[in-house]
Amino acid sequence: MTHEEAWIDVDWGLDFESFEWMVHLAACFNRHLPPNGPWNTWPDWPTDMIGRVSEIHRPGWLSACHLVHRHPSIAVKGNTITVTDAHGTARVLEDVDVTCRWWHVDVTSDWNVPPRIIAALDARHGPSASHKFVPGQMEQICMGVEDDALSYGLGLASVLQTMLDPVALYSRATDYHGARCTSCHGTTYREGLRGQGLEHGKEVTYECWSCSTESWCN
Ligand SMILES: [Zn+2]
Repeated sequence: MTHEEAWIDVDWGLDFESFEWMVHLAACFNRHLPPNGPWNTWPDWPTDMIGRVSEIHRPGWLSACHLVHRHPSIAVKGNTITVTDAHGTARVLEDVDVTCRWWHVDVTSDWNVPPRIIAALDARHGPSASHKFVPGQMEQICMGVEDDALSYGLGLASVLQTMLDPVALYSRATDYHGARCTSCHGTTYREGLRGQGLEHGKEVTYECWSCSTESWCN
């Protein structure tokens, strides 16, 4: 395919500075490839679209664009990606661009975890009291690229894959424990240590932020 042919299907009505445009242009430049094979052609676009992507990170962004383009439960409009999970719940990533490394995903705004998810989490991790509810601190989870050398595009693709799977999302949101501050004795929920310390009086001890800040000041 020549680059001239890639332009035939281009929709010139899109916003050239949007992630939607990047996905669309990548689709046009890779339309000669089999639908399920990986994309390998970086669009020949004179400006850097929504940001500069170094050559080594382009395959990662092409794989994210391909996933957005081909997956029936993923949609892109402007700089917003919407993912609808297997249970029909839609979640969005906003302000998507190629400099994003971390993504905040709203898992739920509902305290109670649906019974079918509790059953799946119990099967995956063993029964835990934390599987029954999601406290406010865990309603939104942060996912992204921990390794500097990885393409942020690959990070986005893996976040989107997790968003497609409600059990994977709830698995993150229910990985928390009950904690009690050794100084002020205030209790809270903290990330990690799935299900530990949730019984009253059995909390995991730690020093809360305000108590530890006070001790620095003294
Ligand atoms: Zn404290």
